[in-house]
Amino acid sequence: MKATTISHCLIHQLPETGTSPIGSVCPRCKRLLYTQPASLENRAYWESQPGAYTLDRRPIFIYTRFGDNYKIRSLIEE
Ligand SMILES: [Zn+2]
Repeated sequence: MKATTISHCLIHQLPETGTSPIGSVCPRCKRLLYTQPASLENRAYWESQPGAYTLDRRPIFIYTRFGDNYKIRSLIEE
């Protein structure tokens, strides 16, 4: 079973504590998605290079979600 996942918006440098149709997002991304709804076709991928490392040197990878009118890059720490 998965422990708590910590995700952090790389665009706004905020924790992703908000909910949205495309999953957890930061409050500012949430506002953007609310005023400019996500396109019907939403895509996502993991970037190949880690975005950061934990203090015990575990890699933290970047998950990118995007559509026609938005792009959200998140650091996902599990
Ligand atoms: Zn954000």
